[in-house]
Amino acid sequence: MNDLELNEDGVLYVVATPIGNLEDITFRAIKVLEGVDCIAAEDTRHTLKLLNHFNISKPLISYYRHNEDDKSDFLIQKLLNGESIALVSDAGTPGICDPGQAIIYKCIQNGIKIVPIPGACAMINALICSGLDTNKFKFMGFLSINKKIRKQELEEIKKSDVTIILYEAPHKLKDTLKDLASALENRRITIARELTKIHEEFVRGTANELLQVFDNPKGEFVLIIEKTDKTQDEEKLILQELTLEQHYQYYLKKGFSKNEIIKRIAKDRNVNKNEIYKKFV
Ligand code: SAM
Repeated sequence: MNDLELNEDGVLYVVATPIGNLEDITFRAIKVLEGVDCIAAEDTRHTLKLLNHFNISKPLISYYRHNEDDKSDFLIQKLLNGESIALVSDAGTPGICDPGQAIIYKCIQNGIKIVPIPGACAMINALICSGLDTNKFKFMGFLSINKKIRKQELEEIKKSDVTIILYEAPHKLKDTLKDLASALENRRITIARELTKIHEEFVRGTANELLQVFDNPKGEFVLIIEKTDKTQDEEKLILQELTLEQHYQYYLKKGFSKNEIIKRIAKDRNVNKNEIYKKFV
């Protein structure tokens, strides 16, 4: 160990790395990467570039999704022998849609100390600038490609009373927006693209509006989806129980014009506007 004050022996450091802008690495992350005995990395070539940038030279061990189990055992043995290891992924926080879980579980089983080294994470940075509710949220990662599971996930998003966060690959963004458009009507969505990079942008709109903007999506994307307005949904259910006349009077008392009332009744009852119009001529 180079720096005993900072790094302890036999410890796994879970180190967040930048999601684009290399200046987002923390002083502490650099010190830990300099101090550990070796670095377990999702893609060693990718991490080598990061290490070269900061003039750090360390043995790298590949640790990716498909060798997580075997490599965890190998790394656990090293940790039990007193070596200290930093775990990094290609970008952002390990374990968040990235490898990491298997070794964490095994460290806990083996009584090995785990220390998080905080830093960039795409979902949190997308959320904080989304303009949507940050008090309660649910991270759902990537939507499933399995049709049945995806349908359930979309239903969950539709009913969610907390903000939802999704990751999406550029080639799947349009399909996801189309699915969200059919599931969510007019709920607001913020798309955070290329966070911390030159072309960083936040685009806000409904799924249909965003489909117009992202005709040929490029880059990395996070989707932040507005929670459902429960009071609006509950109000809709109550209104559906009224007779047409009572429904009409309800909006009339609120001061709406005849045309606006007809439009609103049709929307509340999920029927065509003309059908309602005919009843009130
Ligand atoms: N561990 C990473 C984190 O902490 O955010 C996430 C890794 S996951 C394999 C990759 C996905 O994260 C991308 O498909 C995208 O949805 C999101 N992502 C990563 N970097 C991003 C960036 N700079 N801008 C927007 N989204 C990003």
